[in-house]
Amino acid sequence: MDTVKEFISNIYKSNRWTNMLFYAEFALTLLILALLKDTKNQSLILLYFLIGAIISNLIVLYLSGKITKVCCTMERLKEEAAKDYLTGLDNVRSFDKSFNELINKARVNEESIALLAIDVDLFKRVNDTYGHAAGDAVLKELSTILLKSVRDFDVVGRVGGEEFSVILRDCTKERTSEIAEKIRRNIEGDIFVLPCGSTIKVTVSIGIAVYPATVTDVSLLKEEADIKLYRAKHSGRNTICI
Ligand code: GH3
Ligand code: MG
Ligand code: MG
Repeated sequence: MDTVKEFISNIYKSNRWTNMLFYAEFALTLLILALLKDTKNQSLILLYFLIGAIISNLIVLYLSGKITKVCCTMERLKEEAAKDYLTGLDNVRSFDKSFNELINKARVNEESIALLAIDVDLFKRVNDTYGHAAGDAVLKELSTILLKSVRDFDVVGRVGGEEFSVILRDCTKERTSEIAEKIRRNIEGDIFVLPCGSTIKVTVSIGIAVYPATVTDVSLLKEEADIKLYRAKHSGRNTICI
C-alpha cells in the first residue's frame, strides 16, 4: 500500500508544474467563458483552451525533464569533485574539509580524535620495476584494504601521490594503535596482483597523532602525524609510530 502511495505521490510531484499550469489555464478559460457567455464562440474558446493546454503541458514536461537532467549532472559533478579519480577515496580537498569540521567538533565536545599519516614504502621501486599502471593498481588495492581495515564512520583520503590519511573519530590512543597496526598488518599480509600478472608484497609506514593524548592542541595533529611518519620511515619502514 505504501509503495502505491509513494508511486502516486512521485507521479504527482513530477507533474506538479504541468498540473498547476493546466488548472491555471482551465480557470482562465472558465473565466473567459463566463465573461463571454452570450457569444457564439464558446466551443471555439474551448478548443483553443484544449490545444493551448496540450502544447504548454508538453513544453513544461520537456523543460522539467531537461532541468532534472541538469540537476542530476550537477549533483554527480559535485560528488566527483570530492573524490580521488584513481581510488574513489576522498581527495585532499574534501579530506581537509572533513578534517577541519571534525577537529572543531572534537575541540568543542572535548572528544578524542586521531590522525594517521600513511605513506607507501619504497613505492618508486614499484613504478620503476613494473611501470606506472602497475603502481596505480597497487594504489587502488591499497585503498580497498584501508577501507576494510577502518570503522564505517572513519574518514579515509588520498592526500598525495602515494600518501593516504585516516581520521579516527572518538578514538583512544590504544584503539588508534590497534587500528593502525591492523592496517599495517593487512597491507603486509596482502599479495598484490599486478596487471601484468606478477605478484608483489607492499608495506606502509604510519605516523599517528591523537588529541588530546599525544597533542594538546588539536590544530597540531597533522604536523605531529607527519613527524611520527618521518620517524617510522627512519626506524626501518613497515612500522607504526605514535
Ligand atoms: P619511501 O619509503 O621513502 O616513501 O620511498 P618512496 O619510493 O615511496 O618515496 P618517493 O617519494 O621517493 O616516491 C613516491 C613515488 O610515488 C614517486 C612517484 O612516481 C610515485 N607516485 C606518485 N603519485 C603516483 C600515482 O598517482 N601513480 C603512480 N603509479 N605512482 C605515483
Ligand atoms: Mg611519499
Ligand atoms: Mg613512499
